[in-house]
Order: sequence, then structure tokens, then C-alpha cells
Amino acid sequence: MIVTLTERADVDAVRRALTGLGLWIESTERSDRGPVHFVIGRGSTAVEPAEVARLAGVDRVSQAHSKRPRVDAHGPELSVTERVALGPGRPLLIAGPCAVESEEQIARIALKLAARGARVLRGGAFKPRTSPYDFQGLGSAALGWLRRAADAAGLGVVSEVMSERDVDEVAAAADLLQIGSRNMQSFSLLKAVGRARKPVLLKRSMAATLDEWLHAGEYLLVHGAAGVAFCERGIRSFDPSTRNLLDLGAVALLSGVHRLPVVVDPSHAAGRRDLIVPLARAALAAGAHGLMIEVHDDPACSESDGAQALLPEELGQLAGAS
Ligand code: PEP
Ligand code: MN
Repeated sequence: MIVTLTERADVDAVRRALTGLGLWIESTERSDRGPVHFVIGRGSTAVEPAEVARLAGVDRVSQAHSKRPRVDAHGPELSVTERVALGPGRPLLIAGPCAVESEEQIARIALKLAARGARVLRGGAFKPRTSPYDFQGLGSAALGWLRRAADAAGLGVVSEVMSERDVDEVAAAADLLQIGSRNMQSFSLLKAVGRARKPVLLKRSMAATLDEWLHAGEYLLVHGAAGVAFCERGIRSFDPSTRNLLDLGAVALLSGVHRLPVVVDPSHAAGRRDLIVPLARAALAAGAHGLMIEVHDDPACSESDGAQALLPEELGQLAGAS
């Protein structure tokens, strides 16, 4: 059993109440900004979860026989920074170019996005590209530019970690660590990213079932991640009309049934600019708590994914309407 405390709980009082019921606390976990969880040891007295849930200071109780106890205990909120959170309420807008292309490019775009309602700046420094001959990202230098651009514009930062080797560097620059679609089941990477104890944006693999995706989230949490947001970005389908098939059923399930933080990336789902706004609206209607949208102010000259990039003005129209 995992007992998740409310934010204002008196942790010692709850500990005493649990011990009083005959429950043995195997471990206590607290992520940086998240709630305290008590993991109840298997040898404890059998107590009805409902009885534990009624104790003052207890927010929820999940079953240890769950295959994903930490994901089940997660809840729908995730703080990205002190000031930026994802969860029910106002949708969080994450926007930025596919890749950081220069210091000037990212600084310029960050200011345009902040003025149009974005709260978090995206931009790849390490890019997973199908062809080794395509632009691979500018690496460490790009991370520094991304952070400075976001700070100047008052935004949070999300950027992808592709390799265990880069975790510390990306964690030092980004508020939210992104696991890309192609790495959703790179288990060594998930463990290493979890150990950074930061919030994570976990993109769904283009071929993953919901169960596999949730288990990938469990990997992150059990290794220490401060929380996970699940990002639906389209799965592979038989139909090449769009780049991928945006699975809004998965969004409704994760948000409405599993009660987890959900972000939708319509850009990599559609692969074309004209479908981004309708898909973004549909995602919010299905229960997404946030959107991650690729934006470039000169898409024709973009190093990657120019065809799916919105202009900053178009993002503004979406933010105004959503
Ligand atoms: C990205 O968001 O930069 C990206 C590469 O997306 P995905 O991993 O979903 O393909
Ligand atoms: Mn992209």
C-alpha cells in the first residue's frame, strides 16, 4: 500500500496514526516539490485502505499489488517550476522550435512566445533524427542559449535527454526533462533520468500500448523522478496522410480515468501546420492539461520540422481561443 499525504499534512502525526493501526512504514519518499508518500511494508497488519484514507492528512491510498503503484499514486498535478504547474485548470502552453538553431534564434522566439501565452520554452539541443546526415542539434552550447532565452522571457525550459551521458547537463539547464518517443523504453536512460529527481515529460513511443507507457512512467518514479507528465504525440498508423495518428482516446483515459498529468503534442502527430490548431483544441476537449507546440518565426529556414511549425502569431490565436 502507498499512502500519499496532503500538501499540508502533519507528517509525524500521520506516521503515528499509521503505526497505531499496525502498519509498518517501509520507506518514506518525498520528491522535491511533491507530496510525501509512505510505502507500507508487506508484513503489516491487514487494514482496509478506506480506513487509512480517512486519516487526517492522507490524500489517497493506492494498492501495492498494483503493478505500477507510483504511477497510481501520482495524481493529476505536476509542478514544473515554482511558478509553473501542469494539472486541471488553465491549460499549460509549452512552445518553441523543434531545435535550438542559434543563440539569436532562440532568444528572439522566446520573447515572441512569452508575449503570446506560452509558459515553458521547448527546444532540442540533442535531436533524435532518423538519418545520421540530418541536423543533430547543437548540444551543450544550445542548452545554455535555451536557458538564457527562457530566463530573459520569464519562461520555464523543457529539453530532450537522449543519452545517460547528458542527463546532468540537461538537468542543470532544464526544468522539465523530456524523454523522446524513440527512447520511451530505453530503460537505462529512464533510470538515469529518474535519478536526476526532476519532473519529466515522457513522450509516448509511436508503437507503445498504454500499459507500456505507464510502466515507463513507473521506471522514472521508482528511480526518483519528481513527477511525470505523459505526452501523447501520435502513434504509427497505416495511413500516411498525417505523420502519426493522434490518439485522443489515450488522452481521455490517462486524464479522466488514471487522473495523470497529460500533455498533447499535435505537431509531431500531424506533421503539418494546418492541422495543429484543430488538433490542439480537440486535445484540450479530451482532457489534456497542456499542449506542446512547435513554433518557428521562419519555418522555411528551420533546420528540422519546418512543415509542422506554427508562426508565433498563430500560436497567439490558439492561446486566445483556448
Ligand atoms: C521532439 O519533441 O523534439 C521530438 C523529437 O518528438 P518525438 O520524440 O515525439 O518524435
Ligand atoms: Mn520536431
